[in-house]
Amino acid sequence: MLMDEQAFNFQHHIPDKQPETLSPQQEKTTPGHPPLTVSAAEMTTLLHLSPDALLLVSTTGIICQVNETASQLFGYSYDELIGQSLEILLPERFRATHVAHRDSYIAQPRLRPMGQGLELFGRRKDGSEFPIDISLRPILLEHALHTIAAIRDVTTQRLTERTLAKQAERLNMQTALLNAAHDAILVRDPVSRIKLWNHGAEKLYGWTTQEALGRISHTLLKTRFPASRVAIDMRLEQEGHWEGELAHTRRDGTTVIVRSQQILLRDQQNQPYATLEINHEVTSPDQYEHKPYTMQAVTEQLSFLQHIIDALPTSIYVVHGDNARLLLTNKAAASIWGAVWPVGQTMREFLDTHGILIVNAQGRPFPEQAWATTRALLQKEIVIQHQEIIRQSTGVSIPILVNAVPLDSPYWQSLQQMEPSLLQTTVQLSEPLALVIHQDVRMLKEAEYLKDEFIGVAAHELRSPLAVLKGAVGTLLLQTQRGHGPQLADWQQEMLQEIEQATDHLNTLTTDLLDVTRLQAGQFFLHRTSTNLSALVQRIVERLQQTTSLHQIEINTSLHNVIANIDPQRIEQVLTNLLTNAIKYSPKGGAVLVSLAIHTNATVEISIQDHGIGIPQHQQSQIFGRFMRADNAHAAGINGTGLGLYLCRAIVEQHQGQLWFASQENVGTTFFLTLPLLQA
Ligand code: ADP
Repeated sequence: MLMDEQAFNFQHHIPDKQPETLSPQQEKTTPGHPPLTVSAAEMTTLLHLSPDALLLVSTTGIICQVNETASQLFGYSYDELIGQSLEILLPERFRATHVAHRDSYIAQPRLRPMGQGLELFGRRKDGSEFPIDISLRPILLEHALHTIAAIRDVTTQRLTERTLAKQAERLNMQTALLNAAHDAILVRDPVSRIKLWNHGAEKLYGWTTQEALGRISHTLLKTRFPASRVAIDMRLEQEGHWEGELAHTRRDGTTVIVRSQQILLRDQQNQPYATLEINHEVTSPDQYEHKPYTMQAVTEQLSFLQHIIDALPTSIYVVHGDNARLLLTNKAAASIWGAVWPVGQTMREFLDTHGILIVNAQGRPFPEQAWATTRALLQKEIVIQHQEIIRQSTGVSIPILVNAVPLDSPYWQSLQQMEPSLLQTTVQLSEPLALVIHQDVRMLKEAEYLKDEFIGVAAHELRSPLAVLKGAVGTLLLQTQRGHGPQLADWQQEMLQEIEQATDHLNTLTTDLLDVTRLQAGQFFLHRTSTNLSALVQRIVERLQQTTSLHQIEINTSLHNVIANIDPQRIEQVLTNLLTNAIKYSPKGGAVLVSLAIHTNATVEISIQDHGIGIPQHQQSQIFGRFMRADNAHAAGINGTGLGLYLCRAIVEQHQGQLWFASQENVGTTFFLTLPLLQA
């Protein structure tokens, strides 16, 4: 039943003279635990109450009492056990040595609690053996020393212990293997908490196992992912594994690049319960400096990019989000705005803070939704050469051409993921981004002004010789007609008429050019006076009717006294131009109808209708532009400069009126103009 000297030993005899007391030596060896003194009745109760198997044994090793549990445990009946030698409960091979052990225990009886000895075995009646644990206690029953043994079958316990020992052994072996590996190996649970951290990981990252366990792996290692962590997780989920390079930060703050192999571990229900990560260092820190995708390299690239855009003369900025928050800008932008726009601030806030206005050519502020920047951001429009004027708080106005394009955001998002501090502002995944370029066109405007001035001077200088020419040709023709001087041959007469026409044409051209340059320079002034418009129209119609016999110009109005506060010369210029066009662009002749009507809103509307070549649909929107002529006018061989309508519209608008038309090619054209009437 026992295997060592602490086991279940009994003395065969106790001295007769002192059966109830123990020797001083015995007392010393059982401090606090002298033998219990019990009566026979107490002993019987004790035996039956105990859940353990109990045996009461005499000093000679004879079983004196047993309880039910003991007899069941060993497979003997009560009667079969009483009076038997204790050794029948031991495997045979231990019996002889046991007698000696029993003697030494009786010589020095003491309390021996359970679980203290080594491996003990019992033997059942059927010969089978089983592991047991035992506790011993000396006891005085009716003044005679006995030993009471409590025995417990520990078969299940031993089995569990053995399995555990085997598992521990396997685990130790695995850990030893993991630790022997040169690579950093870690296991993380579904929320990335580190569950295993081998020696390789300790060595590579500098964090001890104790420090690393339970931490979130990507937070501990400040992992920079090539794409995004979500993308890697998705790949793991779909394919079960992922392989790629990652940048990690060691405990000492240095960066290490690793080739990472990750495997998703699933349980029997196919639920992921952990990820095994094997990270192999691929770069030494100095190699890392040259890797293009590392943070350091990205930081360098960004600052290089900043240098480049700072060196550009055009203003550049990148904005994000519905409120156009600044992400990046250059130095030239600051000089165009006249202020520094801080990264992260919205465009509206910035403009308001510095009293900056964005206005159109007429000086009227653009509403926010009409800014090129807003259009690119919110409508995803590519805005090209939008004319805006930036009016700084100091009053300085800078004409600019704006190009704005919507951008894709993944580049900025991956930068942000790599290192949030790189951007100084947070770009959301769904946010719109736009790149805006402002070109300062002050120099162009200056050049344009110089050109206009040159044209103006040239036109002005041409006027005097043209006047001489016109006067001379006119006089020559008139005097010849009157019979003064020699008669001219027909061809001579025709040539003089051609010279006169060309001079007229040149005169119109120079006058128009002068007007255009005056308009451009803001030097075009009206000399208003209250004028009878109906009379003016009447006069112009009569004059122009004399220039054509192919056309019949009619006035359709019952109004004879329409008074307006206008510059009569300029309005005559407009009406003459429109009527001349109606005649000119109706080469086959026909009726030209001039109508005059008054509207309730105190404006007078004049329309001029012809049945000529019309204006092609595709060119109608540009027909008021400078030097603009329609293709069909060219094709019909009709001369012109393309300046008349441009001037007409400018003059009418200066009168707070409007000029427009309706036209159909080969059917005819009607021009409409409105002018405010003189208020009473
Ligand atoms: P132009 O000196 O060429 O007549 P305008 O500025 O007066 O210049 O007119 C611009 C262009 O508009 C013309 O060249 C012609 O193509 C078109 N146009 C103007 N009026 C008419 C019209 N009544 N019918 C057809 N085309 C016209």
